[in-house]
Amino acid sequence: MVKINFMAMADSIKYKIAVYPGSFDPVTYGHLDILKRSLNVFDKVIVAVACNKKKPYLFPQITRIDLINRILSEDQEIEADRVSVIGLKGLLVKYVESIKAKVIIRGLRAVSDFEYELQLATTNRTLNSDIETIFMMTAEKYSFLSSTIVKEISRLGGDVSSMVPAIISEELLKIYSKGEKDETLM
Ligand code: ADP
Repeated sequence: MVKINFMAMADSIKYKIAVYPGSFDPVTYGHLDILKRSLNVFDKVIVAVACNKKKPYLFPQITRIDLINRILSEDQEIEADRVSVIGLKGLLVKYVESIKAKVIIRGLRAVSDFEYELQLATTNRTLNSDIETIFMMTAEKYSFLSSTIVKEISRLGGDVSSMVPAIISEELLKIYSKGEKDETLM
């Protein structure tokens, strides 16, 4: 019987670097959950923070990068030296090619994410068929969570401490401290 050396095979896994792109406006526990899951599979994950001039971001790209770095340096569950946070300019696929990576990570929450993600992954595959998009499913408790919801709750004076790290809650509070409580979010 031929013996297979699985340990040696594991060492030679081809794709050691993955790129996790997104707006991260701001980063949530859902994003961090996907990042942690990715680090269970890949040696190194590059968090690529997007900047699309057509999107009205709450935090400038440089601030979003800085906030993620600050969170990583405090999060005991993440080996910060295995993560790099970069600002993305232009096409994602071009960046992935430039660092000779082959994998893009995207998070999936619910079926509602699927259509958009499929479109994105198919487009990226059209641009470079050697680059694979791998989807990670978030922990159930974060499946309802989005940066948009966090901003809405915070804007209306709600507590988002179960959704984002304290660093983010504090930044949101600075922005929304006046509150706009005459509106209703149900
Ligand atoms: P984008 O504007 O590119 O969708 P986001 O920052 O909103 O950027 O999301 C980046 C990635 O993280 C996407 O793949 C998104 O589906 C995923 N994501 C966002 N929130 C969550 C969450 N709560 N759980 C899992 N994945 C998430």
